[in-house]
Amino acid sequence: MQIPDHGMDRTALFAMLEEYRVNDANWRSGKVWGYVYDAGEEVDNICKQAYTMFLTENGLDPTVYPSQLRLENDIVAMAASHLRGDKDVVGSFTSGGTESLILAVKTARDYARAMRPQIQNPEMVLPYTAHASFHKAGQLLNVKPVLVPVDKTSFKVQVDEIEKAITADTILLVGSAPSYAHGVIDPIEQLAALAIKHKLLLHVDACIGGFLLPYFRLLGENVPDFDFQVPGVTSISMDLHKYAYAAKGASVLLHRNKNLRKYQYFSCAKWPGYSVINSTLQSTKSVGPLAGAWAVLHFLGKDGYLQIAADLLAATRKIIAGIEQIAELQILGSPQMTLLAFSSDKVDVFHVADEMKERGWYVQVQLAFSGGKQNLHLSVGPSSTKWTDDLLADLKESVAKAKKLKPGGLASKLKQTLAKIASSTMSEESMLQMMSMVGITDGQLPERMAEINTILNSMPPEICESVLIQFFNDLYVPTNKINRR
Ligand SMILES: *Cc1c(COP(=O)(O)O)cnc(C)c1O
Repeated sequence: MQIPDHGMDRTALFAMLEEYRVNDANWRSGKVWGYVYDAGEEVDNICKQAYTMFLTENGLDPTVYPSQLRLENDIVAMAASHLRGDKDVVGSFTSGGTESLILAVKTARDYARAMRPQIQNPEMVLPYTAHASFHKAGQLLNVKPVLVPVDKTSFKVQVDEIEKAITADTILLVGSAPSYAHGVIDPIEQLAALAIKHKLLLHVDACIGGFLLPYFRLLGENVPDFDFQVPGVTSISMDLHKYAYAAKGASVLLHRNKNLRKYQYFSCAKWPGYSVINSTLQSTKSVGPLAGAWAVLHFLGKDGYLQIAADLLAATRKIIAGIEQIAELQILGSPQMTLLAFSSDKVDVFHVADEMKERGWYVQVQLAFSGGKQNLHLSVGPSSTKWTDDLLADLKESVAKAKKLKPGGLASKLKQTLAKIASSTMSEESMLQMMSMVGITDGQLPERMAEINTILNSMPPEICESVLIQFFNDLYVPTNKINRR
């Protein structure tokens, strides 16, 4: 594709855009149990109006755009009070959970550089259930992730295991509230005590739970303290584009005080242009996401959020009870919020996911890791709560159908081949060959994914990672006449 020689008619170009999205997952349907946190059309419209109102304002310089400064200070104040911080708690608005976590790790690294300059190779201790973004932060910032196993039944980190992993190079401890994969909350109070004892920073990843859990507590749920109420917690991340229902591109990173936050910041005077001072990774950025989030927080208010939370809680309980009644399935751990995972010893869950897809549902596949089992994940969102009965009925049917399906032969054949590959030494050629064998051509995935998932599941993680990169590398290719994607 090239830039058209002549400008297009707006009707025609919007028609093209509509056509482009015909195959997208329908987020408004409520049948997509992941990716979307949709609180309905009214909330959506409020967000859109505020977002487009500030679309063109530049968040690069708060002295030129005081509206950006005001909106961000408002949002950080609301977030800090929601997580029971005192007047010293400060923070930043970021583009998402990943950016918040990268900045939390940068803060810890640069704080350690200042306070413990003897450390050459900094390490962070992560429960293996910690979000993948910590691994990304580690790669980008040269902070080594030290993975610690979690309890095999509760999926919570074992604090004594964390303590064993602390070395003279440790700069940061991490806990999740809750973890994405299993929806369970790590013992934050105990982790915080450990952080104080060893004079370490502790980041609480409350990207998905920080906003909703306080409402669950108000509804009478037994939510353990995970926020600034706990001495020893030094930073918390909380996404607004999840359970605060803001448009994507909205998260907050909070720090215990300004003295810690300054290590998050970047400034540069070593170039001939304008003096650069950045609070986050991005420099030029739209004020739209900030204004959108601000508007939704004000539109819904505490009572609006509480009402949605009650609905989510009831739906999640119902789904958990329903899954527990399907003999072939087991819920993993005891989910404490709206995220849950289930596995099976009697049926191939990858087939179950395919069967659910045929019935119009999207459920997320999670591969086995660190001695665990492959499983399926559901995130309950506001637009999904009306579907609990239908979901459970179709799940039951899908399990029955999947039981009759035999595992594909290809997976077991490839498994033997894969077992022979020592580490991440798979050549690009053999990788391509393998991908075409399982039906991936030109980056197009087959309708049924069970075989591919079985293969990915049996690979060592390093090989799986290179296969996934290869897949994306083939998927993102400039549009040409033959390949019209
Ligand atoms: C979603 C999530 C993240 C990553 O956030 P993005 O907004 O996808 O970048 C990190 N941690 C947890 C627990 C999450 O649920």
